[in-house]
Amino acid sequence: MKILIVEDEAKIARFVSLELKHEEYDTRSVGDGREALDIISSEEFDLIILDIMLPGLNGLEVLRRMRKDGNMTPVIMLTARDSVMDKVSGLDMGANDYLTKPFAIEELLARIRAVLRAPKPVTNGDIISYEGLVLDRQGHTVTVNGTEVELTVKEYGLLQALLENLSTVMSREQLLEKVWGYDYFGETNVVDVYIRYVRSKLEAVTPKRYIQTVRGVGYKIG
Ligand code: CA
Repeated sequence: MKILIVEDEAKIARFVSLELKHEEYDTRSVGDGREALDIISSEEFDLIILDIMLPGLNGLEVLRRMRKDGNMTPVIMLTARDSVMDKVSGLDMGANDYLTKPFAIEELLARIRAVLRAPKPVTNGDIISYEGLVLDRQGHTVTVNGTEVELTVKEYGLLQALLENLSTVMSREQLLEKVWGYDYFGETNVVDVYIRYVRSKLEAVTPKRYIQTVRGVGYKIG
């Protein structure tokens, strides 16, 4: 497993790198946002630990650009401030997890293990599936263990967005944009209402709770 550490504070970078090597991860370190983008575009990593406050380009901008280029390598963001704003922006831009400094190394190692073993969706052409839940993007149908679940267009859209971003928390704003579109001017709690509809339809055919609430942030599957 190859991990990139993007952190300009040399002491932290060195410490994290040593600990990860001790756990037998292969590590690379850079201390600048632009260097990070360069190395990410030329080498493949299994995971990136990305500090937010960086010279060159900040971590949020690095994340935004790599996701825009279609690079879906899992990212754990580090933030010096316990800022809800940074946390939400990071998750909005597709970070898989975040950690506030100072952190215990055991906590970082636990997050790394969790991100690396998080389930990935099984896709086969138009079919996306995850643990018995199957969504057919061609036929616009959803089944759970073979039983069809009838969903409205918006309910289907929500489920599709969550499945396509399996193991990633989606904020209400992201889900609104994807399902209702940029020009939606209503309340973001419409997402909560529709998530409830989808959940109750899924729960009518399975006891499994596919959609998880991530308090204060949004929803995820997986
Ligand atoms: Ca920093």
